Amino acid sequence: MKGKKRIVVALGGNALGNTLTEQFNAVKSTAKVIVTLIEAGHEVILTHGNGPQVGMIDGAMSALTREDPQQDNTPLSVCVAMSQAYIGYDLQNALREELLNRDISNIPVAAIVTQVRVDPNDPAFLEPSKPIGRFYDKKRADEISRRFGHIMRDDAGRGYRRVVASPMPQEIVEMESIRAIVNSGCVCICCGGGGIPVILEGNHLRGASAVIDKDHASALLAKQLEADILVILTSVEKAALNFGKENEIWLDNMSVKQVKQYASEGHFAAGSMLPKIEAAADFAASNHNRESIITHLNKAKEALNGNTGTHIKL
Ligand code: ADP
Ligand code: MG
Repeated sequence: MKGKKRIVVALGGNALGNTLTEQFNAVKSTAKVIVTLIEAGHEVILTHGNGPQVGMIDGAMSALTREDPQQDNTPLSVCVAMSQAYIGYDLQNALREELLNRDISNIPVAAIVTQVRVDPNDPAFLEPSKPIGRFYDKKRADEISRRFGHIMRDDAGRGYRRVVASPMPQEIVEMESIRAIVNSGCVCICCGGGGIPVILEGNHLRGASAVIDKDHASALLAKQLEADILVILTSVEKAALNFGKENEIWLDNMSVKQVKQYASEGHFAAGSMLPKIEAAADFAASNHNRESIITHLNKAKEALNGNTGTHIKL
């Protein structure tokens, strides 16, 4: 990877861990990965997921309301806002420290609370697909479903999780503020957890009960910022055809056309790899010079040098 690039980096669950302690520790190694890219001269804009965290916050707030009925129910949109602040805080803190450890004192870091407009008529509101919170076995999942009315689904063969509506992002409300922060040379953390889903009602933005996929929000952000590269860092080094099967094929390169074909053949699981693949293709399709990369968190540098990861171009 030659020259300075504008790179939108989307951090997945393994960059943050599942619990408070895991996140506290995970952000330290995540910060090392990110600062290595900054040290190489790239302009980095960070987004992140919030699946486990928003599930944890929603669970805690629901328990509070059950314990004390005078405590209002906390809407999912507010839980997303809380998760942005909590994750943004940990990332901001870890990035600052890692930058200072490498004697980089002129690059500030700021997380921005980001609202993302969704369409109230998005069919996704009728078909929950986004897994949040912890994994459970089938028995416990059935129990939770009966007790709290949550919809529980198998998540890519890894256990059962609650699923919520995940509408497509239409517009990043704070876009111009983000642009100003990025252009000032600051490392901007934004669109956390896909952004707080809001519905436009005149001048009012009403929170929606949903969790936007951070991969889709990241593609929109990368297009709006005219980024060169969208890097989606996750828990697998590459996307695969026949994932988890005997005839598994790891993918090095894909054209946008191939992405569409493989996706229609059902190779990528909904709610996990599919949104990444779709987001990657969406960004790559927006311009011939743009590229999306899907890889493991610890392979970011190698993948940017073209040595691993799944690379998607028009
Ligand atoms: P993140 O938290 O990074 O968004 P996800 O769990 O949502 O991560 O998505 C990554 C997961 O997608 C992988 O760990 C893997 O289990 C799953 N997955 C589903 N289909 C595929 C595929 N075709 N190729 C690779 N991974 C896949
Ligand atoms: Mg995901």
